[in-house]
Amino acid sequence: MKKISIIIPAYNEEDSLPILYDRIKKLMDNMSSYEFEILFVNDGSKDKTIEIIKEIREKDNRICYVDFSRNFGKEIAMIAGLDYATGDCVIFMDADLQDPPELIPELVKYWEEGYDDVYAKRRSRKGETWLKKFTSMMYYRILQKLTKIEIQKDTGDFRLLDRRCVNALKKLRESQRNTKSMFSWIGYKKKEVLYDRDPRVAGSTKWNYGKLVDLAIDGITSFTTSPLRLSTFIAIPTFILLFVYFVYVIAKCVIIHQAIQAFQAIILLILFFSGVQILLFGIVGEYLGRIFNETKNRPLYLVNEYNGKKEMND
Ligand code: UDP
Ligand code: MG
Repeated sequence: MKKISIIIPAYNEEDSLPILYDRIKKLMDNMSSYEFEILFVNDGSKDKTIEIIKEIREKDNRICYVDFSRNFGKEIAMIAGLDYATGDCVIFMDADLQDPPELIPELVKYWEEGYDDVYAKRRSRKGETWLKKFTSMMYYRILQKLTKIEIQKDTGDFRLLDRRCVNALKKLRESQRNTKSMFSWIGYKKKEVLYDRDPRVAGSTKWNYGKLVDLAIDGITSFTTSPLRLSTFIAIPTFILLFVYFVYVIAKCVIIHQAIQAFQAIILLILFFSGVQILLFGIVGEYLGRIFNETKNRPLYLVNEYNGKKEMND
């Protein structure tokens, strides 16, 4: 019998979990020709999430969990899920039921037909503000313009991956992860399935605009380091100052016919070249920061316990 692992990262999802389990249980009962493993990755939740997972595991041993020692973020929770999943294929799903489990039989159907990466593409997004929809649309556009790898638009992380995709993804151990672009990077035979994205059932989104901007910048540069931002923040006012002073000098020249004086030209040149220098310096800092981060070679996450057994980190 083939085994399907459903990986669910969960951060403060105590309200969604009981509803989620009911829906998944129904699904598992309907697909009795497969063996299932529901692998929760508790990403350092501060509420009762882990207690609820343990409670469900008491009565259903298909429920497994990895419990992080603190909050590491969804991207890291996903790679941990891949590390611990034992299935012939894995399915990533959010804990808030925005990804309907009822779509899973269709994903599995295409997997059985030989596709390696069956991803769910959003046809609509209920319960999300127009601002979030708009920024998300712009983000995909910009990201695609900046990279040669084909990006799947309007897809979240809801997808089915064959074991060999899982093994491939496990080899990408960088610490600043952008899993979405990794799905594109590994390639393999992809298939798209359309679905309507539901509003979340309970609790509130773990994202705010600050986090989203961060994710966007990480996705675009694939490597974020603060020196670049700092330099950019200094470079922008420099260029604004340059522009204002330039307009002032030219206006004086045109309106009161005062010839451009040497000191004015010098100020303009200094502003221009210092602006350019600060900007280029920031770019160098960006690469340097990346080298720095990768040479640290830290483990990507630390696990508190796996299926009730304490992880000793040996
Ligand atoms: N999540 C996580 N760690 C975090 C933030 C979120 O594991 O630091 C999980 C969360 O529990 C949910 C999924 O990632 O299962 C998606 O989060 P959310 O629904 O808040 O994001 P949105 O759907 O609003 O983009
Ligand atoms: Mg959500």
